[in-house]
Amino acid sequence: MNGPEIHVEFAPELALFVQRALRRTLVTDGVSSLGHVVESAGVPLTEVGALWVDGREVPTSYVPSAGDRVEVRPVERPQRVPGAPLRFLLDVHLGTLARRLRLLGVDTAYESTDIGDPALAARSAAEQRVMLSRDRGLLRRRELWAGAFVYSTRPEEQLQDVLDRFRPDLRPWTRCTACNGLLKEATKDEVADQLEGGTQRSYDVFAQCTQCGRAYWKGAHHEQLVAIVERALTDYAS
Ligand SMILES: [Zn+2]
Repeated sequence: MNGPEIHVEFAPELALFVQRALRRTLVTDGVSSLGHVVESAGVPLTEVGALWVDGREVPTSYVPSAGDRVEVRPVERPQRVPGAPLRFLLDVHLGTLARRLRLLGVDTAYESTDIGDPALAARSAAEQRVMLSRDRGLLRRRELWAGAFVYSTRPEEQLQDVLDRFRPDLRPWTRCTACNGLLKEATKDEVADQLEGGTQRSYDVFAQCTQCGRAYWKGAHHEQLVAIVERALTDYAS
C-alpha cells in the first residue's frame, strides 16, 4: 500500500490486540473504511467504543485521508446493547462461564459441541444474543447481533469481566445450569426418581427445570455456588 498516511493512537485497554506500538503511523489504501483499518491492525470492532478523527467522532465507515489523527477508544463500561433484552451466546470453550452466568439467572445459550463460526454467528443474529468468545475471527463476523471478547482464560475473572461490562440483571437460582431453562419449585415427590437415598433424607428444598426436568437441591457443592452468587450480588447487584 502506498496511499495516505494516518496517525493512529490505540487506547491502552486495546494493547492486547495491537501487536506493535499503541501510537503509530499507518499507510492506508485510500478506499478502505477506518473500521477495516482498525480490524486489520488486530483490534476487533466489538472492543472499540468510538473512533475519533481530529477531535470529532466518526463512524466505522469513515474513509481516512492523509494526515488524519485517529483515536481508537475502548468500549464503554457498562456497555448498553439496545434493541433486545440482554442475553448471551457462548462458544464451545466457555462452558464454565456459561454455567456460572446461568447460576446467576442470566439468559445464556451454550453448545458443548463445536457447531462452527457461521452457525454461531447465525444463532447470535436469529436470537439477538451477544456472542461471547476469545476467538477474534468469530467476533469479526458481520452477521453477529453483537459480540464481546472475553479477556481472561480463568472462569472467575471471565465472570467478573462480563458482569462488569454488561451489568446484567441478576436472578440467582432461577435457571438450569445444564440447559438454561427456567426453574420451578418442586416437591420431593416430583423429583424423587432423581434423588439418591441420602439426598431424600437430608434435603427438602427442591427445584426442577421446566425444560429438561433436572432436579436441584441444596447439595454437596452448594457452599461453593453460594459463594459465587454472594460475590456477584455484592459487587454487581443494581
Ligand atoms: Zn434444564
